[in-house]
Amino acid sequence: MALETCPKDLHHLRACLLCSLVKTIDQFEYDGCDNCESYLQMKGNREMVYECTSSSFDGVIAQMSPEDSWVAKWQRISNFKPGVYAVTVTGWLPPDLKRNS
Ligand SMILES: [Zn+2]
Repeated sequence: MALETCPKDLHHLRACLLCSLVKTIDQFEYDGCDNCESYLQMKGNREMVYECTSSSFDGVIAQMSPEDSWVAKWQRISNFKPGVYAVTVTGWLPPDLKRNS
C-alpha cells in the first residue's frame, strides 16, 4: 500500500452536528454538507463550518449503500448520501439555528 492512499489530513476531520457526516474542514467549506446544505449553508462559509461541525466524534462508519444497510437504519442515516459517518458526535448546533427549525 502506498502512503498516498492514506488520508493526508486526519487532523482536520470534522463531523456534521446534524447528520454525522465526516469530512475535512476544507471539504465542508468547499462543498458544504452533502445532506444538510440547504439547511446549514456551510458552503463557502468557514465560520458556519466551525459552528455546525465538531472535531469531537467517536467511531466512523463507511456507508456505501445506506438504503440497504441495517447499520444505516440503526444509525438513522439510511436516507443520507453514501460517505463516512461518525457513530457519535459531541457538540451542539448554534442556538440561532435551532430557533429557526
Ligand atoms: Zn450534515
